[in-house]
Amino acid sequence: MTITLTGIQPTGELHLGNYAGAIRPLAQLAADPARETYVFVADLHALNGRPDPDQLRDRVRKMVAALLACGLDHDRVHVYRQSRVPAVAQITALLANVTSKGTLNRAHAYKALVAANAAAGRDPDHGVNMGVFTYPVLMAADILAMRAHEVPVGADQAQHLEIAVELARAFARAYGPGVLHQPRAVLPQTGAVLPGLDGRKMSKSYGNTIPLFAPPAVQATLVRRVVTDSRRPQDPKDPDTLVALLDTFADPATAEEIRGRYRTGGIGYGDVKTLLAGQLDAALAPMRDRYEALLADSRRLDDALRTGERRANRRAAETVEVMVDAMGL
Ligand code: ATP
Ligand code: MG
Repeated sequence: MTITLTGIQPTGELHLGNYAGAIRPLAQLAADPARETYVFVADLHALNGRPDPDQLRDRVRKMVAALLACGLDHDRVHVYRQSRVPAVAQITALLANVTSKGTLNRAHAYKALVAANAAAGRDPDHGVNMGVFTYPVLMAADILAMRAHEVPVGADQAQHLEIAVELARAFARAYGPGVLHQPRAVLPQTGAVLPGLDGRKMSKSYGNTIPLFAPPAVQATLVRRVVTDSRRPQDPKDPDTLVALLDTFADPATAEEIRGRYRTGGIGYGDVKTLLAGQLDAALAPMRDRYEALLADSRRLDDALRTGERRANRRAAETVEVMVDAMGL
């Protein structure tokens, strides 16, 4: 059995890009009967941004509901809140002792903050809390706690994964090779990068998103706002954001047909938008219904978390056991 692990930050509303680029590929991976998948909502990691407590609670719940609704709800997937597996924090404390400060000084996120402070003429560590600085140790603990073989991550997380491997090696040098499992493989996320309303990468920071679970009428209105050029219905057209969205969400025959009509001319952007809105709704309605139902019935959500967290706690506790034993505690 291959153990796959991914963490997802409880950031605001999920958008179509998050789903196509991260959640759907993860659900596809997790559907493989040879895999057991641990998926955690990274609420401890989120604390370094000092979120409002009520907002954090709300976002964590919504993220759990979204993961379950998007297909991560079968018995080989264990969904848990990072904070509810105390062994992860314990392993962070243990790993701190084989982590050189220099390694953390070189971590991209911290370095970017220091550089921004330098540019503004401030103290290098202005506004940097230890949650930010030690983030890579916590992430290593996430991975090593579950003895994960594979950790699918986006490119921005690649360095953190390297640090996790580095800490596992440092631990092995100090306390022997058989204690922690080294992550065996890093999978790039396979989903394509989805463009947003303005044609740039769909991203919360650009404000160009279509929310995954917005009502169909809201999604249709946003689809209308997708920026197109001034070509007339009869003109041939270049594949654009509308085509990218159709490729990602429409049934393949429809997407192919529209691609053909872009090549030859004979369809207007308005008609493509109407068709796209319908296809989006058809693709997303079942997930949206499951999502709404999960948020409405907190018992089902709590049950799923109880099961996932029991499982994750058991696995992480085994890791702590061998670590403390090796370290002489
Ligand atoms: P931010 O603007 O805060 O960076 P975001 O909207 O880009 O937010 P992230 O939280 O950075 O979203 O990304 C969450 C996950 O979704 C990551 O795995 C990322 O690779 C994926 N993702 C984000 N945007 C896209 C996109 N447009 N296409 C494909 N995948 C995406
Ligand atoms: Mg991003």
